Amino acid sequence: MLIVQKYGGTSVANVERIKAVAQRVADTAKQGHSVAVVVSAMSGETDKMIALANQVSSNPSEREMDLLLSSGERVTSALTAMAIEALGHKAMALTGRQMGIITDTVHTKAKIEKIHADRAQKALEDGFVLVVAGFQGITGDDNVTTLGRGGSDLSAVAIAAALKADLCEIYTDVDGVYTTDPNIVPEARKLDKISYEEMLELASLGAKVLQTRSVEFAMKYNVPVVVKSSFNNNPGTLVTTEEKEMEEVVVSGVAYDKNQAKITVMGLPDRPGLAAGLFKAIADASIIVDMIVQNISSDGNSADISFTVPKTDSKKAFQLAESITKELGAERVATREDIAKISIVGVGMRTHSGVAAQMFEAMSKHGINIMMISTSEIKVSCIIDAKFTELAVRVLHDTFGLAQGAKP
Ligand code: ADP
Ligand code: ASP
Ligand code: MG
Repeated sequence: MLIVQKYGGTSVANVERIKAVAQRVADTAKQGHSVAVVVSAMSGETDKMIALANQVSSNPSEREMDLLLSSGERVTSALTAMAIEALGHKAMALTGRQMGIITDTVHTKAKIEKIHADRAQKALEDGFVLVVAGFQGITGDDNVTTLGRGGSDLSAVAIAAALKADLCEIYTDVDGVYTTDPNIVPEARKLDKISYEEMLELASLGAKVLQTRSVEFAMKYNVPVVVKSSFNNNPGTLVTTEEKEMEEVVVSGVAYDKNQAKITVMGLPDRPGLAAGLFKAIADASIIVDMIVQNISSDGNSADISFTVPKTDSKKAFQLAESITKELGAERVATREDIAKISIVGVGMRTHSGVAAQMFEAMSKHGINIMMISTSEIKVSCIIDAKFTELAVRVLHDTFGLAQGAKP
């Protein structure tokens, strides 16, 4: 078999752990498998480098930021390859560029366009274990890019697709995908299997166990993904195509996201084209807007529009919203960063009614106010005050019977 194994930041956090990873990789190779490893930077390193960049400049250039951040994964790929070699196996460390990962030019959140895998393929045939630096690629005109936070997951899935691997294993600090973050709710239950679609919703709603784009990619190219712990040998969670019995469970998971900010434009004249103008400018700045709510005033002459964006983009979005809507006659623009998005996810919602009402009732019973709501076929999300995040996650986990031993 050809197996891609990805090790996250905590799994390569220090020399002992890198040696343990090397042992796991060597054991897999010894069983006769070809192995391509993808590593993250040591945990905390990427954040440290971002802090350094912000110390030397209030507005660091994104191109230079990418060059800086890509270095964390280079360090671990080289060290891991050396540790594997020390165990007597041929290993070759590769940067994103050497792996042939070509991306678009959107620095700090580039998309993979193609992978020229010939060199990697040849090295695998020659018996090397590959150790690829995750989270990075190269543009057509030779600039280093990074793939967005948590992007090593995407590197792994994309490499698995390009090499036509039999399996993509994501090794992390929890032993699978749970009904909610097990670090917040200790009673959370590990799922044996989850559909790509549910995993995609959970990830995009904040469950950082897998990066959203990696799940999208896995679904598109049908890459079988298993999430496992690098600290034990427990069976993990298989992310796979939807099966009939998955629909019987109404809510499969609860997710939260504290990385969003809410921007509200007040007193916008109610005319066609204003929302278009505002959101076009935001989109042109490559800022992803999540929820949007518009209210028309009771006299019908003006509107308030609230929308959410990633916290990292909130300053930029605020400035854009202010400059554009002031011109259009808006009264005021305000930002709130102390918010959280709480979501429930389940393919069973397609066939069951009353799920949203049950969610709102549970939150109201605990005095949690809802600021914004959005729904899709298989999820309901609410924006609430960030201070209620953990409470809301626990309440919803209980309400929908997700705990170990509970009957769903
Ligand atoms: P890595 O550094 O290995 O990429 P991450 O920190 O990105 O690891 O992701 C693993 C973390 O995801 C866990 O420690 C856990 O706190 C969090 N998490 C959030 N939601 C879930 C969930 N539903 N199931 C498992 N882990 C989750
Ligand atoms: N090191 C990067 C991050 O912290 C990428 C990753 O870990 O997947 O976001
Ligand atoms: Mg991660």
